[in-house]
Amino acid sequence: MSFSSPVMDLDELEHVLDGALVRPSSPGWDAARAAWQLAVDQRPYAVVLAASARDVVATVEAAARLGLRVAPQATGHNAAPLGPLGRTILLRTSAMRGVEIDAGRQVARVEAGALWADVTAAAAVHGLTGLAGSAPDVGVVGYTLGGGLSWFARLHGLAANHVLSADIVTADGEPRTIDATRDAALFWAIRGGGGGFGVVTALEFRLFPITEVHAGMLLWPIERAAEVLGAWWEWARSVPETVTSLGRLLRLPPIPQIPEPLRGRSFVAVEAACLLDPATADLLLAPLRALGPEMDTVRPTPITELGALHMDPQEPTPVTGDGLQLAGFPPAALEALLRVAGPGADVPLLTIELRHLGGALAYGQQGGGAVSGMDAAIAVFSGGITPDADAAAAVHVALDEVGAALAPWRAETAYRNFTERSGPRFDRLETHIRLQRIKAAYDPADLIHANHPVTPAG
Ligand SMILES: Cc1cc2nc3c(=O)[nH]c(=O)nc-3n(C[C@H](O)[C@H](O)[C@H](O)COP(=O)(O)OP(=O)(O)OC[C@H]3O[C@@H](n4cnc5c(N)ncnc54)[C@H](O)[C@@H]3O)c2cc1C
Repeated sequence: MSFSSPVMDLDELEHVLDGALVRPSSPGWDAARAAWQLAVDQRPYAVVLAASARDVVATVEAAARLGLRVAPQATGHNAAPLGPLGRTILLRTSAMRGVEIDAGRQVARVEAGALWADVTAAAAVHGLTGLAGSAPDVGVVGYTLGGGLSWFARLHGLAANHVLSADIVTADGEPRTIDATRDAALFWAIRGGGGGFGVVTALEFRLFPITEVHAGMLLWPIERAAEVLGAWWEWARSVPETVTSLGRLLRLPPIPQIPEPLRGRSFVAVEAACLLDPATADLLLAPLRALGPEMDTVRPTPITELGALHMDPQEPTPVTGDGLQLAGFPPAALEALLRVAGPGADVPLLTIELRHLGGALAYGQQGGGAVSGMDAAIAVFSGGITPDADAAAAVHVALDEVGAALAPWRAETAYRNFTERSGPRFDRLETHIRLQRIKAAYDPADLIHANHPVTPAG
């Protein structure tokens, strides 16, 4: 064990922290407990605003002695499934945003609270990039532990497959550096198996020499959803792995944050990122452009601007969403989706997106982690703005309707990162059993409180 002086209570913990301890009675309590997902009202036992790996060790130790749990959280993008936190210390890592780029090795090392925007900016200086998702303000660690589906996923697979090592504090308070040879089982579990196995304090992962992408969005009025989504799916299955795309139903609210030509309107959209020279990409995109989109933003895009493509909210937002995976997407599935969410339907979902998988995602990587590929054709994510309980109730109903409509084509497994409501089984049974054994070995008392928990075996 690495502790010099055992912490017996919260006062002692407060005393040893480099960062801060915030209690329900403290000033700043509401800010400290707020998640990015503003619809989630987190009420933990206390909040630790960690400033260092030492703080993480001290917090885990204190929680163990006090019979509490610890929930690591960088941003709170996926806070919704955490459940009650009354006996849990919320361990916020948002001040630990260090990023180091080793340009020679093409490797990034990030602290627990780093955002994708931090990595993209730092790596771009060296002509490199990481496998970021659509939103630049998502936390690198939470995203990667859950898998990590990027704009380059069909070529490079999941972000979790490119992790080289992690610094992690396990439930016994031990800080460990783990990789393919040190604590290999734990290293396997955290790559796609989620955040239930310890508190990651730093992550090291591969970067790629990408500076520009031919990328953007094609938009048509939502009335053309059947034609456009049908054509997109046929097209998507014909393009090489250098193209990652999605089809989408978008209902944009009339708010100033949405640019004028889109504000308050509903669309069917195709978004694509092509790691191809512009001429080849344009040739590939021709069948979609032949459908006469009303707007077309596809162009050579600097890697630092790719984060704007999907128009994700850039600030904490009250949203409620959920995902599922589809084994296939035949015409009957499209019809079923459009029956509940197509042009004629009155649904409170801002987005229903269908992300094309396959390519490098289908077969995963040798030596990958718990989730090294996605055994599905499409990852669906749907969500709506939920500023109050009535809006949330309506969005939950709509999410259930989309799920029920697509149920006949549902894949066996689900994707952690796109799951914001608890319930589904994520992994194949053998993976699930192995994760439970590893959880039992490293956290038998279930001290680490994860949004998508794995119960210790036995
Ligand atoms: C607008 C938006 C866009 C998104 N786009 C994509 C996308 O393109 N691709 C994709 O794959 N996902 C995407 N996601 C999903 C996102 O990857 C997940 O919500 C992810 O869990 C967010 O990680 P976070 O750290 O920001 O969130 P948090 O809520 O802070 O963390 C989520 C969970 O990760 C674990 N965790 C976080 N930090 C640590 C740590 N230091 N140690 C151990 N466990 C930890 C914990 O279990 C925690 O509950 C998107 C989500 C949103 C809301």
